Amino acid sequence: MILVAEKYIGGSDIGGTWVRVALSNLDLNEDKIFIKKERTIKKAKTSISNQVCSLLDELLEEHGLKKTQMLGIGLASAGPIDMREGTVFNNANLGFREIPLKTPIEEKFPDIPFYLINDCNAAVLGIHYFEATAEEKNDVVYITMSTGIGGGVICNGMLLLGKDGNAAEIGHAKVVPESKYQCNCGAYGCWEAYSSGTAIRKRTLDFLEQEKLNGDVLVELVENDISKISAKEVFEAARKGDDLSQKIVEESIFYSKIGIGLINNFYDCRAIYFGGAMMNDKDQIIPYLQDQFENDAIKFTINHPPKLRVSNYKDEIGIRGALALVKYKLENNPVVRSYSY
Ligand SMILES: [Zn+2]
Repeated sequence: MILVAEKYIGGSDIGGTWVRVALSNLDLNEDKIFIKKERTIKKAKTSISNQVCSLLDELLEEHGLKKTQMLGIGLASAGPIDMREGTVFNNANLGFREIPLKTPIEEKFPDIPFYLINDCNAAVLGIHYFEATAEEKNDVVYITMSTGIGGGVICNGMLLLGKDGNAAEIGHAKVVPESKYQCNCGAYGCWEAYSSGTAIRKRTLDFLEQEKLNGDVLVELVENDISKISAKEVFEAARKGDDLSQKIVEESIFYSKIGIGLINNFYDCRAIYFGGAMMNDKDQIIPYLQDQFENDAIKFTINHPPKLRVSNYKDEIGIRGALALVKYKLENNPVVRSYSY
């Protein structure tokens, strides 16, 4: 298990709930990828960078390794990020308006190349390395459906980053003009405000309050305590025939069709891989999307439709992508030629 004298790379994935860190050898062999996770600490602006450093130190020690054996550190974070400054800004789930990452981590891991990337852009690199077929690799998209909706895009064999590193913020595509549903970003009518886990909970509570449809099965499922309702319960109640829950799920899928159609119109992708907590209920989502794009794509996209797939790596795809980023940078892989921050 110990990577004696071998060179290796470090990675981290920072989310609103979990901080993950990883070490792996340069070839990213399955038996040489070590991952640790802890709940995200949000006490001070520097809590997260401290946590990443101490978890990395722990992993190094557990595997008998030294910092001098490290070739680079890749850090994926929930965005938006400022790649040049090495910070996260305006994130609703990390506790502070601006969070420094690059400077405090570089202080503790000096002289080791450091690469910051937003988590969905990392994830699409993870898909590129670990999952996409040779045919799909050059034009592939990753979509996470979780608390929010985010995306990463590889188009013509190049990761799309944009001026600060936040290209493909697809979850904030406006799918309903003049909507009353507010998104986590503050705007109204975003795809995320209709199809994310947060949206499903919010809209269900709204529908219950308005008594739009019968939600008895759902209310019984949470033992009359509607504060317990999350997307998970809504999907479960929908499976059990709850009218209100079925309507919410159906509408969430409809708006995802719009979102996917936009992505395919803009990026003309060959495959879209899905990840995020909502994929726990993928059987109630993905087949309906596949049916639409396999049999009647023109309603939502003018381009040839992409294959829709679910990532096998679940919530580990972001950290795997952070490792892939370092590998690709070290090897000058053209897929990351846009990464020059
Ligand atoms: Zn939004």
